[in-house]
Amino acid sequence: MTFPGPRGAVRRLPGVRAVDGVSFDVRPGETLGLVGESGCGKSTTGRMLVRLLDPTAGRVSFRGEDITRTAQSRLRPLRSRFQMIFQDPFASLNPRQTVQQIIAAPLRAQGTAPAAVRREVRDLVDLVGLAPEHLERYPHQFSGGQAQRIGIARALATRPELVVADEPVSALDVSIQAQIVGLMERLQRELGVAYVFIAHDLAVVRHISHRVAVMYLGRIVEIGEKNEVYERPAHPYTKALLSAVPLPDPAAERARERIVLLGDPPSPANPPSGCTFHPRCPKAQEICRTERPLLRITGPTAGRQAACHFPE
Ligand code: SF4
Repeated sequence: MTFPGPRGAVRRLPGVRAVDGVSFDVRPGETLGLVGESGCGKSTTGRMLVRLLDPTAGRVSFRGEDITRTAQSRLRPLRSRFQMIFQDPFASLNPRQTVQQIIAAPLRAQGTAPAAVRREVRDLVDLVGLAPEHLERYPHQFSGGQAQRIGIARALATRPELVVADEPVSALDVSIQAQIVGLMERLQRELGVAYVFIAHDLAVVRHISHRVAVMYLGRIVEIGEKNEVYERPAHPYTKALLSAVPLPDPAAERARERIVLLGDPPSPANPPSGCTFHPRCPKAQEICRTERPLLRITGPTAGRQAACHFPE
């Protein structure tokens, strides 16, 4: 995904390659966590998956069907099968609509009969832990956690197979975060929905994910089963991110090695040569400055891959 550059005095300046060479799959019913610092391209990736953004190159396939260039009119029947949950529930809910209208909208769009819509909306409100009397209220009458429950109910209204959740709990209080993550886990067990869970909080991602992909400057630098990635990170960036996550055991917390990364992530408009992590990497060698490492198998299974010349 390349975003066009700003207009200069004579011509447009070079574009920003926000996501580059990213490739992964999501299996039915699983949660794939997508992590990385802000600006690493994880939200852009999520938006491309559900065609809220059209990629400038590459392909998005859903159940084997290439949906990258499908016209919006033909996309409509497919839309009910993949949905999105947003970070700020208030910004994503129409303030002039009641909860009933908000949750009913995707059902109406797919042509569900009015009586069935009313029944479905009541079931959905119950499913996400809200009460029937909430149906006639407006978004501003709810707390952030309740508003996110409405967003989840709307996303699940058409019983999608895939939901992309973009930082769904990062705007909420910590105690509420656990409730929403618990709700999403229960709904996955009951409905079999797959999630792409985008977040910068590694503790939350560890809790909910089956597999994890770590992004840095528009690329996936490591991907694998959750426990493999968290317990034996292969990429120095993953290792550094994990070293900043507090451990619940105070003795383990005191004993563990903390890796402090130098500087801020570079601008995607002007990425470093070779391995784009090299200016901040404690293990960087000469080759890292010139040769870009490709994502390759580094673990006991093919699903475990890292993009590093010197993986752990
Ligand atoms: S390729 Fe080199 S600079 Fe990049 S992460 Fe690996 S060791 Fe660090």
